[in-house]
Amino acid sequence: MDINAQSEVIITHNHQTLVSEEAEIYGSAKAESSSLEHAWKEACGVFGIMAPGEDVARLAFFALYALQHRGQESCGIATFSNDNVFWHKDLGLVSQVFNEEILAKLSGDVAVGHTRYSTTGSNSVCNAQPILVAYKDIKIVLAHNGNLVNATELRNYLILKGYKFESATDSEVMAKLIVLELNNKNDLKSAIKEAFKKCKGAYSVVLATKDNLVAVRDPDGVRPLCIGTTIKNQHVIASETCALDIIGASYKREVAPGEIVFITRDQKLDSSLFVSEIKPHHCIFELIYFSRPDSTFKGLSIYHFRKELGRQLAREAPVDADYVISVPDSGTPAAIGFAEESKLPFSEGLIKNRYVGRTFIQPSQMLRELGIRLKLNPLRDIIAGKKIVVVDDSIVRGNTSRKIVKLLRDSGAKEIHMRISSPPVQWPCFYGIDIDSRDQLIAAKNSVDEITKFIEADTLKYISHEGMIKSTGLSQDTFCTACFSGKYPIEIPQELEGAKLRYEKAT
Ligand code: SF4
Repeated sequence: MDINAQSEVIITHNHQTLVSEEAEIYGSAKAESSSLEHAWKEACGVFGIMAPGEDVARLAFFALYALQHRGQESCGIATFSNDNVFWHKDLGLVSQVFNEEILAKLSGDVAVGHTRYSTTGSNSVCNAQPILVAYKDIKIVLAHNGNLVNATELRNYLILKGYKFESATDSEVMAKLIVLELNNKNDLKSAIKEAFKKCKGAYSVVLATKDNLVAVRDPDGVRPLCIGTTIKNQHVIASETCALDIIGASYKREVAPGEIVFITRDQKLDSSLFVSEIKPHHCIFELIYFSRPDSTFKGLSIYHFRKELGRQLAREAPVDADYVISVPDSGTPAAIGFAEESKLPFSEGLIKNRYVGRTFIQPSQMLRELGIRLKLNPLRDIIAGKKIVVVDDSIVRGNTSRKIVKLLRDSGAKEIHMRISSPPVQWPCFYGIDIDSRDQLIAAKNSVDEITKFIEADTLKYISHEGMIKSTGLSQDTFCTACFSGKYPIEIPQELEGAKLRYEKAT
């Protein structure tokens, strides 16, 4: 047995084709991004397709394009063509990492794709996904969205068993657990089941072998994952429905919490649960901010939920004003809902430069001082002399809100009333969102009045917790709301708590 060996694999990376006995990952990290502060950073987007006869890499490319909002640090696509794995991944946006030449090399019948923002492991190319593992002649590529809360424990367990790690990601932990179970004489299906029974936390996983496409979702269903079919009835798995739409696939259903879905080359779908206790706790922040507004949740668009949040916010925190504007783009649906409910005119007031994205060019000191203006520019003739309601989806550290208020004030706004379509974020997320500790959260340390003073708004109001749940039309039990309530639906190991909740322990 050679638990770390990998048979011949063709890897494309950094625009070269490498043939390697070991799946080494080559490449140099590009310069760090200079993107402006964006407090919430989503973990990842995943995609998989089983479509013999189709250009699966190109379909994966476009699906990742639609999932770009879920991670902008790195991306990758792996394809299987018989026993060969073709693979390319790198730091950067989907449009920066792939080109025609690279896609042409990624031939095959099944593809797995990934867009990443790092929540475990640094932003280096060795942590990019999909990752590849092998046991004897079974090669597996895996892509993951979420965060394991017991990753350290599992990693130590695997190291004791002789496994070596090439990255710092919990995704590699999952992949090596599957190899361990294969080594324990399980068939592939049982090995995957046994491996995920050991995993605690949030994980929406797509993995593939040369003959199977597999989807796995944690028993709480924290991160989204759905199944669709192409016009030729070939199966597709994606983090969000917007990735199905872009390639003309139809939405079939969600991967259920605690479900493993196996899809064969002839499109047979086999589904089973790998745990007996299923207790969905979907991340409510997917509805508020993370997911794209044109994706759906329980049959309704995310846009619909965001508008409802805005309506509820208007009922709870009305204000007399000339215009309702939004912090684009994520605040816009809630602002429209707020305006409709308040019977106030909605107007664009801050114009977003949609082409800022990520750049590898560092702004000069002079530009850095202009700060948010690289991204948002005010419409002075709308704002000057007016009472403005400005709606945003959340306040995390408070710095962006402060800059926006200053921008509006400098543009001549008479009054600025900030309205937030989520309750105060007071607790860190352990399930795949990059908020490391309570120290980073302005609402953990300050009252609403203090935050109002800090951001220098005339008034600041948040939607209530009850109002947020009411807007979804679903029960509180359906959701994880831990970053507002501190009630974590999946138990957090003590070593993680110690690091992340230190503000609470210090006071
Ligand atoms: S803690 Fe917040 S961001 Fe994290 S999963 Fe729960 S609701 Fe989502």
